[in-house]
Amino acid sequence: MDNIVKCECGASIDIAGVTPRKDGTKVWCRVCGKVTVHSHR
Ligand SMILES: [Zn+2]
Repeated sequence: MDNIVKCECGASIDIAGVTPRKDGTKVWCRVCGKVTVHSHR
C-alpha cells in the first residue's frame, strides 16, 4: 500500500487511484508543479 510519492521539493503526493504503469507513474506535484515519475517494483 505504498501510495505516497515524495517529490524533490519534499512534498508528499498521494497517488491512490492513479493507475500504475510499467514505465512509471507520472505524478504531478501541486506544490511545485513538477512532474515526478514514480517507478514501481
Ligand atoms: Zn514538488
